[in-house]
Amino acid sequence: MTSPNEELVFAPLGGVGEIGMNLSVYGLGSQRKKAWLAVDLGVAFAGDDLPGIDLIMPDIRFLVEERRNLVGLVLTHAHEDHYGALIDLWPLSEPGAPEIPVTIVPLGGRIKLPPFDIEFVSVAHSIPESNALIIRTKLGTVLHTGDWKLDPTPLIGAPTDEGKLRDLGDAGCLAVIGDSTNAVREGRSPSERDVAKSLKELIDSAPGRVAVTTFASNVARIRAVAAAAHACGREVVLVGRAMERIAQVARETGYFDGVQDFRGTDTYGYLPPDKVVALCTGSQGEPRAALSRIALDEHPDVTLGKGDRVILSSRTIPGNEKAVGRVINGLVRQGIEVITDRTHLVHVSGHPRRAELEDLYGWVRPRIVMPVHGEALHLAEHAALARKIGVPETLVCSNGDVVRLAPGPASIVDEVPQGRLYKDGRLIIDAEQRTVADRRRLGFVGVVSVALALDAQGALVGEPVVELIGIPEFATDGRRLDDVAHEAAVETVENLPRGRRRDPESVVDAVKRGVRAAVAAQWGKKPLCLVHVLTI
Ligand SMILES: [Zn+2]
Ligand SMILES: [Zn+2]
Repeated sequence: MTSPNEELVFAPLGGVGEIGMNLSVYGLGSQRKKAWLAVDLGVAFAGDDLPGIDLIMPDIRFLVEERRNLVGLVLTHAHEDHYGALIDLWPLSEPGAPEIPVTIVPLGGRIKLPPFDIEFVSVAHSIPESNALIIRTKLGTVLHTGDWKLDPTPLIGAPTDEGKLRDLGDAGCLAVIGDSTNAVREGRSPSERDVAKSLKELIDSAPGRVAVTTFASNVARIRAVAAAAHACGREVVLVGRAMERIAQVARETGYFDGVQDFRGTDTYGYLPPDKVVALCTGSQGEPRAALSRIALDEHPDVTLGKGDRVILSSRTIPGNEKAVGRVINGLVRQGIEVITDRTHLVHVSGHPRRAELEDLYGWVRPRIVMPVHGEALHLAEHAALARKIGVPETLVCSNGDVVRLAPGPASIVDEVPQGRLYKDGRLIIDAEQRTVADRRRLGFVGVVSVALALDAQGALVGEPVVELIGIPEFATDGRRLDDVAHEAAVETVENLPRGRRRDPESVVDAVKRGVRAAVAAQWGKKPLCLVHVLTI
């Protein structure tokens, strides 16, 4: 029975207006009390603008508050932007929290987390076993697409389950919450099979050694490289821990059945140049990964040289362009030929382009389309496309919005707490804390540290000790900036009225101001300043 005040809502806590850090929740119940279902719990990667930060995660305050009404967390696939925050943020940090049961749902399976009934739909993507979710409720059925594409020949796994999606359309679909990553791109993404063909040609025509880098999680691509190498009479050497780990798991789970055994890096030196393909980590220019070390000629086992060929079978994630550029330039300087997706079909995205979105909406015929998994432009283009092909309602929302999907037209009805957390070393900190802002400031202006001692009358005892970090040594006139700071400290103390000199806090403030002004007069930038006053 549906009581009149019940509603079905969708609230993204991450992944809307950004690519990465996906976390969606669905709620069913009255306005005051709902059962919640969470979908995915991913990370985003920090760029140079967040010095020292490894990962960005969604703030799950809302889920912690509502933990008693949370029926479960369902993961769509094993990319880090969908599950990467799980270990750090789940279980929900309650001391003595009960063991949380983990249910493995078979491909295409169905699981009941009342009041939600969730059916998995196999979809093609760039990692094995990706799923869309059909979420059935008494107020309507939602298709949460996860990351998907249409690929009739995905090399691994079945193509996207068109039959199931058509059935959903026949039964009636209230809303699609869908991937917008490639909504600005016309046409269809090429198939993994086309990439495999192109890789084979490039390995076949290579005169010397070949190295290929790709995302280690793209098992289909690794399989394609292995098949191409085998067809060209070459052995595959795995270089990098992530490659070795994925290869081991893929063997254990049968995804490498029929693929020849791979060789360890220790064999690389013994294989003739035209008999080897090195499959390397480091497609994003990560400095410690295999390809970066090869580009700097610093890898202990694997070297490349003039006439060898490197294939970047990957896309550069925005933010990594400089790092990837450094690797490419390092290789080119050594006379190595570098092939990227700019000139050859050596990579395809795992996300749907416009014609694929049109196909999906043709099959499912939803009443509402809500674009997610994209930046503002992707979301807007996705919504416009859906409207153009006749979807009655589209709505672009933001992280933290609560969108009522039923009853009535889709609308933003509320908001819930959302935000970002940073993984900083071993700690998880709130993005609102000053830590990273301070760090960024330190990066621009450095710090002056001053330590001085005063006696009971407020007279200086000995000389202040001054240390500069991240500040130039000399001013334009040749004076040392630590001398400038030192003089400013002494002068400031001596010019203070005797009464104020006996108050250490007021000495700290005055010295800080004096030192910063004196250094700024020479440098043109105001450093941070730490002052320690010892009263003797
Ligand atoms: Zn993905
Ligand atoms: Zn994703």
